[in-house]
Amino acid sequence: MSSGNSDRINIGILAERAAGERRVALIPADIKKLISKAKFVIESGAGREAGFDDNTYVEAGARIADSWEVLEDCDVVVKVRPPGRSETPRAGRTLISLGGHDPNLGEFLRKRSVIHLALERVPRITRAQAMDVLSSQASIAGYASVIEGARALDILLPMLTTAAGTIKPARMIALGAGVAGLQAIATARRLGAVVHGFDVRAAARQQVESLGAKFVSVDDTDIGAGEGSGGYAREQSHDQQERLRRALSAHLATMQLVITTAQIPGRPAPLLIDHDTLGMMQPGSVIVDLAAETGGNCAVTRPDETVMVNGVCVMGPRNLPSLMARDASRFFSGNIRALLAHLLEGSNRLNLDASDPISGALLAGQSATSTAAAAA
Ligand code: NAD
Repeated sequence: MSSGNSDRINIGILAERAAGERRVALIPADIKKLISKAKFVIESGAGREAGFDDNTYVEAGARIADSWEVLEDCDVVVKVRPPGRSETPRAGRTLISLGGHDPNLGEFLRKRSVIHLALERVPRITRAQAMDVLSSQASIAGYASVIEGARALDILLPMLTTAAGTIKPARMIALGAGVAGLQAIATARRLGAVVHGFDVRAAARQQVESLGAKFVSVDDTDIGAGEGSGGYAREQSHDQQERLRRALSAHLATMQLVITTAQIPGRPAPLLIDHDTLGMMQPGSVIVDLAAETGGNCAVTRPDETVMVNGVCVMGPRNLPSLMARDASRFFSGNIRALLAHLLEGSNRLNLDASDPISGALLAGQSATSTAAAAA
């Protein structure tokens, strides 16, 4: 049954405090779409860095407050990044944010009886696609990785002819052709590079080729057959990884721009580029390692730093979506709107039904007591 306006749930949006984080979890356009179901309180300035001023939130029907008020008054608190210790909602309240891979955070929030709906747990099923922040943000990261890589190169990506002569197009490869890798491939193609892709999942070949890129084959079928469950890759054995690195090194020696995105859920990123391969690469080439957060696909990657080795530039950006904060926030917010609309369907409280595939997956890992509190 839908709620009357008076008992609408209070949803709060906190400003991001992590260094370099410019995104906001909900934008005014999405608040407008949800305002009949909930009241919204936004921390002053939360949307400013992403291009959404306080007055645009007020126009959408939200109230501006300070962080203390958001945490005190709201039944549900929404933010992008995992919360700091001073950003914890009160016991029995619900927090929606990233942070599902941090067991310490999970334990801390459980002890405080806060229900944490960690966005990493949104299941990758068709019904939940609109709620999948990992995909929307990976897509932006893939695009931005090519833009950042192109800026660091001292050559052009497209072929260019002038009266002075003709410049050959740059050669680019994406290692890992999931959401970010495919977007990097599409972006580099649009910019005119000669584009290649590689992935251990067999299904990726057709996706790479459908974007007009060349799929790099490894002769050894054992190392290229890494399909796991749920569309993700399976972790390879030490021996398989070593053979894969050797098979890829000859290809990498011919590339000027390398975007690496290879990840295994819950595991360190596979090492695809070791010191030997770096030594074979052309000076002036650029590697953008999108797996820096989980250890990196390149041996010298340092999170959020740029390292030069034998003239090869290795970048390890961990938060490229924040560079494009306005559109990244639009996508993030669209995902949160879809999630809130699902959880508020037919109810004036969050409908956290463990038998529902979406809320069931989000609740996985919560203690029995906090789950009961959420449903109350
Ligand atoms: P991810 O970020 O976990 O990994 C990125 C890519 O790295 C994956 O394609 C993976 O196969 C690849 N990889 C892992 N180890 C590798 C190695 N040693 N060498 C080369 N590549 C390696 O994955 P992702 O981008 O989040 O998505 C993975 C899959 O899930 C894709 O097929 C994607 O289309 C699918 N997906 C489905 C949904 C849905 O709702 N149904 C949503 C998002 C993604």
